[in-house]
Amino acid sequence: MNKLLLFTCCASCVLPILEYLKDSDFDITLFFDNSNMDTYIEFVKRLNDVEKVAKIYGCKVVKTEYEHEKWLGFLKSKLDKSLDEYVENGERCNYCLFFRSKNTVDYAVKNGYDFVSSTFITSRYKNAELVKKTFIDLTQNINVKFFDILGDKNAFYSLGVKLCKKYNVYRQKYCGCEFSKNI
Ligand code: SF4
Repeated sequence: MNKLLLFTCCASCVLPILEYLKDSDFDITLFFDNSNMDTYIEFVKRLNDVEKVAKIYGCKVVKTEYEHEKWLGFLKSKLDKSLDEYVENGERCNYCLFFRSKNTVDYAVKNGYDFVSSTFITSRYKNAELVKKTFIDLTQNINVKFFDILGDKNAFYSLGVKLCKKYNVYRQKYCGCEFSKNI
């Protein structure tokens, strides 16, 4: 059975993917690496529901530490302007997605996974093409390969809403960081 490490931003985004993959022969681990959260309380709130849906679908969860300062430091090292001056889905977000995608690939390499993928690919709020290219670049010349999740983003979104209602899962109203809170 192939081992898939699936980067997971939140339960509402991963639920439709788990439904989509439920008849696949992947051994799935959800990789919760979300130091971008504005507070530890938000981090834990989203993690709790990710653990809840993982149980429903029989997946494992790996969580990394909440290191918000490290995440901020990475973005500041890459960008010239103050972080709150960037629009959502602009350069700040591109580096944020890169940071978390790279952590996913690094963990997969160290822990013998066959494939990596991400909830960013089916999110209608994210630049899927950029994320796919990032994963394809990061997995060049290594044994871990990128697994693409095909399908219509709006269909994934609608299914996510339905499944969140069914399982009583938290659907947050912002992306996660402090800069996305009042958008
Ligand atoms: S808005 Fe979302 S993707 Fe953009 S920097 Fe904040 S947490 Fe990352």
